[in-house]
Amino acid sequence: MRRPVLALAILCLSFTAWSFNLDGNRWPEGETTFFVDIPGAAPSGVTWNEAFEDSMAQWTDQTDFNFLLNPSYVDPCSGFNANDSNEGFPDGGGDGLNGADFTDDVCGNAYGLRVLAITLSIALPGNLGFALVDQTDIVFNNSFDWDIYTGPRRSEVDFRRVALHELGHSVGLGHENSAPAMMASSIGDIDALQTDDITGANALYGGPGDCEISDLSINTVVDNALEEGDCAVLELYAGGQDTSFVDTYRLILEEETTLSIIMESAVLDSVLIVTDDKLNGVDFDDDSTGNCDALINSTFPAGEYLILANTYDTPFKCNGNTGGYKISISDNALPILTDARSASGQISKSIFHGGATSDGIAYKSSFLPSEAIDVTASIQPDLTHVGEGATFYVVALLDSGQILARNDSGKYTKISKLANIPAFSHTDNLQPEEPFTLISNLKGESFGVTNLAISFYVGYSLDSEPSDIYFNGTAISFSIE
Ligand SMILES: [Zn+2]
Repeated sequence: MRRPVLALAILCLSFTAWSFNLDGNRWPEGETTFFVDIPGAAPSGVTWNEAFEDSMAQWTDQTDFNFLLNPSYVDPCSGFNANDSNEGFPDGGGDGLNGADFTDDVCGNAYGLRVLAITLSIALPGNLGFALVDQTDIVFNNSFDWDIYTGPRRSEVDFRRVALHELGHSVGLGHENSAPAMMASSIGDIDALQTDDITGANALYGGPGDCEISDLSINTVVDNALEEGDCAVLELYAGGQDTSFVDTYRLILEEETTLSIIMESAVLDSVLIVTDDKLNGVDFDDDSTGNCDALINSTFPAGEYLILANTYDTPFKCNGNTGGYKISISDNALPILTDARSASGQISKSIFHGGATSDGIAYKSSFLPSEAIDVTASIQPDLTHVGEGATFYVVALLDSGQILARNDSGKYTKISKLANIPAFSHTDNLQPEEPFTLISNLKGESFGVTNLAISFYVGYSLDSEPSDIYFNGTAISFSIE
């Protein structure tokens, strides 16, 4: 991730006859809608609309980028106006819509010598080393004799191949003169997309290329590191200038799911990015809680997603851009409590969630005495335990060494040793998800508490084996200070 440049808009132009490169821009969704209703037909009888729509279809059918058609007229110069220089690109920010038409000038300014067409592209600063395209308008120079034909170039200019070229600029491609390409800087005999054009578009929109992808599933925790040998963002996205390392994970959701994805690190300025399988952005966080961690809480439709663990190429708040991190991904709004285990020393397949919050949104580990704290937990028992009879336990350890346990009337009482934990409830039919409120509305100041650290554990035992309690190895821990 890079800090975006502080420009409101970048105006890029591309000339068909001249070399004018606009590398490094990308549509955020991998698709855009063009408004096309250019009146009239070429001397060959083919309508301008037909040729323009055929050009859009070539990009859509042969690459991972999609042009969508709205068959109504939008003035490509809407939102642009002449500037004092009277040459090259006009002033203005456009109207947010993609239009195309023949014009006598470039929205008030003169066409340059031998310029057939211009793509006016407006991109907004992005934070992955490239700008995000917001709109592209295409103007065709009225002073040429236009026709529509295939095969070798004639004195009349073939509208279809110029439209193909300009749409390539809209996609985000620059000029290509080292291989046969529709994106060559000068018009020639090529009348259809070439392998190089298709490869270019697919590099931008086709997904993560050669970068390694690991599979992730819900309710897991991954320990990994950003380090030498990982892909950089500019390799993952096949472009841009972002040299920060990125690890890529694939997550498949069979149904709409609400997820809590947390990236924690003691060294990295954590950045979490969720994209679709083609790297088109879906969600993003770099600083949910004012620290070095990142958190995404969102509902995602069924589908395939990529989760990118990233950091800033130039750390600006936390220490480094290489180092270890942990990602937990949970279908519960509560954080996952890792290291689930049982009293007999077995690693448990049960999943524990829990956290402390004062606003119901952010789970955190430090509170002021004036804040009202809620502590909640949730157990997803080992699937082989579901349906059995089970007893639940809740224990709180204070930094003073005291042990409190919650009894069946909901009160916390001091116990002398863990072997004497009282049960606080029992079920005859253990559910796949067992939610608990451990504390609600606890204010340190109500008890005169100003300096207290507390750790909560929840557990259950099966009636068939009452001595083995399954519990969260990592506590719900927080302090009041
Ligand atoms: Zn060009």
